[in-house]
Amino acid sequence: MSRFKEEEIAVLSREMETMSAERIIGWAVENFQDRLAIASSFQVEDMVILDIASRYGKVRVFTIDTGRLPQETYDLIDVVRERYGIKVEVFFPKPEDVEKMVREHGVNLFYNSVKLRQMCCWNRKVKPLKRALEGIDAWMTGLRREQWETRSSVRKIEVDTIHGNIVKINPLADWTWEQVWKYVKEKDVPYNALYNKGYMSIGCLPCTRPVRPGEHPRAGRWWWEQGNKECGIHVGGE
Ligand code: SF4
Repeated sequence: MSRFKEEEIAVLSREMETMSAERIIGWAVENFQDRLAIASSFQVEDMVILDIASRYGKVRVFTIDTGRLPQETYDLIDVVRERYGIKVEVFFPKPEDVEKMVREHGVNLFYNSVKLRQMCCWNRKVKPLKRALEGIDAWMTGLRREQWETRSSVRKIEVDTIHGNIVKINPLADWTWEQVWKYVKEKDVPYNALYNKGYMSIGCLPCTRPVRPGEHPRAGRWWWEQGNKECGIHVGGE
């Protein structure tokens, strides 16, 4: 747990509701310094956060390399290293977890059932995330309320009860898709080339497709499943 008490986070949460993303990110960098990390899957929201945070000094950025990411995401990681002069902290799944899983259920197990898909996300994403968060007091994410119903009540700052009560900061919680892209264009922020091919949310290659006109922005994630559009990183559970 960070040096902030739960009651203090509740007060901050109310105050930050009307604060700009810039102020919140500046506050976070100043207060937590190297005990803060941006969790980035190199989606466009993560790029906005990184771009803003980089104005306040060196920031830590970590990512989870599931082993199944699109080439375009790897390309962007290299661009980010160059442009922002940072070393991206890459966390991988434990080889023994993946080896056991694919030996028993096949390399493309996620298409076979929701349970197996969740098992894959658990081994490739959720468990490495737990390691990435060890030893830090706060993490920053690109969650936005309009992304999906499970995110509609996200606060700009909250206590992350799933990960040992550290602080979770979601500075773009009230941003719209249009606001995100306005910022990216105005500031010439690098972004994943897949957005130019109709993708609106980008995760692992086999589990993401472009969306068709009129579809929900997250319709391309695990498109063969009905309903759930979460991997477990933000909602917990195996
Ligand atoms: Fe596995 Fe797909 Fe989840 Fe990636 S998104 S961890 S490939 S199930």
